Amino acid sequence: MFRAAEQPPLHLQPVRARLIGTPADGGRPRSLYAWQYLGVTMNQRLVDAAIDQMNRRWPSGETGGAAAVCLDDGQILTSVCLDNLNGGVSLCHETGAICQAYTLNKRVTASVCVLREVGSSEIVVLAPCGICQERLALWGPEVQVGVGDPGSPSGWSVRTLLEVNPYYWGAHFADGGRWPSSAQHSS
Ligand SMILES: [Zn+2]
Repeated sequence: MFRAAEQPPLHLQPVRARLIGTPADGGRPRSLYAWQYLGVTMNQRLVDAAIDQMNRRWPSGETGGAAAVCLDDGQILTSVCLDNLNGGVSLCHETGAICQAYTLNKRVTASVCVLREVGSSEIVVLAPCGICQERLALWGPEVQVGVGDPGSPSGWSVRTLLEVNPYYWGAHFADGGRWPSSAQHSS
């Protein structure tokens, strides 16, 4: 139960502890300080959407990867990287889905990236790279991201952007808050 001082903002709801409590942290419910946007969370369904996208794009046995993002209306968008002879123009798996979310003027609430290396059937969850963290920062510090977690039975767990980037540089420019607003990002 939440004490009065710990009530989340109206548009946020507590993350269900079973989704983020892991053996690595003693399985302690962390719902007192982790929130999700209403009805939308980082979960196995999002991971499965990324895996399905990866399998549609690349045959088994080949290196493959994909990303899936969840929007505040529950919609899931998926995308894959853009590879190029000129590595400087390559794009991360998340980029397409992030740009599509922005095109739809929808808020991204969660993001996950999966990878399968050549010759392997193992699928791992990769935390967003620094550039994708910057892209996701548009939607605030509570965006949930999948991270690889060897201590978890699933091999992954959930963190917020703030947890993976506690010293976010942009916080310096926040108008009286801990994180720049979407309006500031878009200005
Ligand atoms: Zn990236």
